[in-house]
Amino acid sequence: MSALAQLQQDPRVVVRREGLPDPQGKCVVYWMQRAQRGWDNPALDMAIKVANELQKPLAVFFGLHPKYPNSNWRHYAFLVAGIRETWEQVEKRGAAFVFRAYPQHDLIRFCAEVGAALVIGDENPMREPEGWRQSATRKLRVPFWTVDADVIVPSKFFPKEEYAARTLRPKLHKLLSAFFTPLENPNARHRWTDATRPASQPLDEQTVLSDLPLDRSTQPVSHYVGGTRAGQNVLRQFVQHGLRDYDTARNLPHLPGTSNLSAYLHFGQLGPHTIALAVRDAEAPQVAKDAFLEEMIVRRELAINFVARNPQYDKLAGCHEWARKTLAEHRADPRPYLYNEAELEQAETHDPLWNAAQLEMVVTGRMHGYLRMYWAKKILEWTPSPEEAFDIAVRLNDRYELDGRDPNGYTGVAWAIGGKHDRPWPPARPVFGMIRYMTAGGCARKFDVKSYIKRVEALAGRSAQLGTHPALFH
Ligand code: FAD
Repeated sequence: MSALAQLQQDPRVVVRREGLPDPQGKCVVYWMQRAQRGWDNPALDMAIKVANELQKPLAVFFGLHPKYPNSNWRHYAFLVAGIRETWEQVEKRGAAFVFRAYPQHDLIRFCAEVGAALVIGDENPMREPEGWRQSATRKLRVPFWTVDADVIVPSKFFPKEEYAARTLRPKLHKLLSAFFTPLENPNARHRWTDATRPASQPLDEQTVLSDLPLDRSTQPVSHYVGGTRAGQNVLRQFVQHGLRDYDTARNLPHLPGTSNLSAYLHFGQLGPHTIALAVRDAEAPQVAKDAFLEEMIVRRELAINFVARNPQYDKLAGCHEWARKTLAEHRADPRPYLYNEAELEQAETHDPLWNAAQLEMVVTGRMHGYLRMYWAKKILEWTPSPEEAFDIAVRLNDRYELDGRDPNGYTGVAWAIGGKHDRPWPPARPVFGMIRYMTAGGCARKFDVKSYIKRVEALAGRSAQLGTHPALFH
């Protein structure tokens, strides 16, 4: 078997367009989309190995489109903050990083311009990027492979939708020893010369952000800074200070008990290997490490499985039959409170805890994980139908969370409102039926609600009661 055919057998690779590399081709192109990093990136590793094998240089193409579905200024500011470091890291690995912002972002044109012999992409289970890859497959005239770079265990091992964590966990654990290992991070051997190197646009973050025709309805945030280096600092802090208590503190929103790494994972600025290996090798109680790896590997990869295998992942229709049935039986139940989307968005409910959670998301770009469950369940309780509740939760989550528009978000909403990956919780209750229920009283017994609300008020930079709203809302 040729070395190239061997590389093709890598379980992370999906061959989307078969064939031999163009013998006239001048380089290999890696179309960097989801895995926005120059280190611990299996797609970059594969592109380098292929380029080395073909004895050609590698161009890493980063085309920035301004209309990624449901994304806005907030998301782009986080993304753009990471490009420079990725550029530097890619160049250190011996490849050329080529940045082209809209309207110069077209992959097919770029491949024709540089004479691509073969194109490598990265995987993303979401509907729209999958559509872009399918379109690239139709239009490219050279082989096109994609690499499942943002999971520990490649998704192709789980070809059906998994019912729950308990069905995925044993299958995933069986494969962990093969995939939960340090990545190779090889260097490209065949370098560009100054004369042959493809031209990149200069990167001035502020100009890029101000020139792109973005949805500007949601402002960038200053609480979390994008980029691999910033992500590594957050990871270091967590491993040194937070990890040891993760199993107990992660569900206590008044404490800084979780990693805050989800946005870095979402934008691919940190890969799952970097994080999971740092946790595995850290000095911390095993119970804390296991609890973290359960969330970061099992739960996260379960969410990716749901989105990859269920085309209705962002609708109530994608939830289990038992859940839709029980919700339908309680559709006409009187609601204790009814709010429209604008009232929810403005945090104008009677519930100070819910308002604080909403405000935390709007102001900082991140709501605490425990409160995300409560937040979504209350939207179910306070809106006219479960379908509407689902759609509102998805819209608000996607709009304000830095880590929004992610498989974890659709799965989180489906879990909270539609019982996805959960089980029926009898006896049936008004509105919820047998969907698991959460109350403000339960939260008050579990954690220090007052101190959480105070913390959010401080974060929001105001001491007034949460009933008055800042000019942050558009
Ligand atoms: P940590 O507790 O430190 O966990 C480490 C990592 O494990 C996270 O970064 C994440 O990648 C993964 N993880 C943790 N909890 C879960 C989970 N329940 N399901 C899947 N993976 C998990 N997560 C997002 O990334 N984006 C979203 O838009 C999002 N929206 C959510 C909406 C609702 C209604 C719910 C219930 C959950 C949502 N989650 C979402 C999942 C989870 O709440 C966040 O991943 C977590 O709070 C992020 O904070 P952290 O990085 O500090 O998490």
